[in-house]
Parts: sequence; C-alpha cells; structure tokens
Amino acid sequence: MSDESGCIFCKIIAGEIPCFGLREDDETIAFMDINPVTRGHALVIHKAHHRDLFAIPAENAAAVTRAAQAVARAVQATLQPEGLNLLQCNGPAAKQSVMHFHMHVIPRNIGDGLTMNWDLVQGDMEAIGALAERIRNNM
Ligand code: AMP
Ligand code: ZN
Repeated sequence: MSDESGCIFCKIIAGEIPCFGLREDDETIAFMDINPVTRGHALVIHKAHHRDLFAIPAENAAAVTRAAQAVARAVQATLQPEGLNLLQCNGPAAKQSVMHFHMHVIPRNIGDGLTMNWDLVQGDMEAIGALAERIRNNM
C-alpha cells in the first residue's frame, strides 16, 4: 500500500524495520516514537505515503486523527498524564524530519520541561481579524 523508497515510515509499514507497534487498522498504524520527548510519546501514520498536511487527502488525514484519538485514550488510561498534545509538523521550519505525514501523541505533565507550550498573550485583534480573512479566502 505504501512504497516510497527511502521513507523510514514506509519501511516500518512494510515490516522491513521494527517498531514498537500499538495499533493497526486497515488504513493506519501507530507505534512508539523511539526518540520520545516525554514518556509515552507515540506516532500515528497512514499506510499510504503522503509527505505532509498539504499532500495527504482529507479522508486519509481523518483516518489518522481517528486513530490518534484511540491512541491518546489508551496513553491516557496507561499513564494518566496531566495533559496530552497532538502535534503534526510540516516543513523544516516546523521541524518535520520524516517526510511521511504523521501525528504525534505526546503525554504532558506539569514541569516536564518540554518547551512546546507558550504563554497566552493577547494579540492585535485588528491584525488577527485581517489575517483570518486572508486565510478564509484561501479555503
Ligand atoms: P517529525 O520531526 O514531526 O518529522 O517527527 C518524526 C518522528 O519520528 C521523530 O519524533 C522521530 O523520533 C521519530 N522516528 C524516526 N524514526 C523512527 C523509528 N524508526 N521508529 C520510531 N520513531 C521514529
Ligand atoms: Zn512513507
């Protein structure tokens, strides 16, 4: 179903390299991230190779999201973290390192030191509104 040469996640799907699998359905697989940013960090991928959010068909992304919810529930039941992030990265500035669409499931605890949170600082409402209109125009 997936054959993008050189793609490490396609190799995992094909069983060519091992993973700590969590879940599989017709469209997706989930497995542990081997470089966990927190304990329980997991990944969910579609079996079809698509580079990123802009390339993947919406129904495939939906399948990944459904699977990520199931994984998140299981991670929550297992570790009872105080929070949990779903994270999906696109492009080098967003720190995407594997060019096969994937969703991170990242359990969070207060004081875990992961610098992914940011303070809520209210922005310029006029500028935000104008940007919203520009984004809407691209939908
Ligand atoms: P990203 O930076 O969003 O592209 O995330 C890619 C993730 O894949 C990183 O968190 C890596 O630790 C993880 N990763 C890379 N190779 C493997 C592998 N063989 N098994 C499990 N996770 C991997
Ligand atoms: Zn791939």
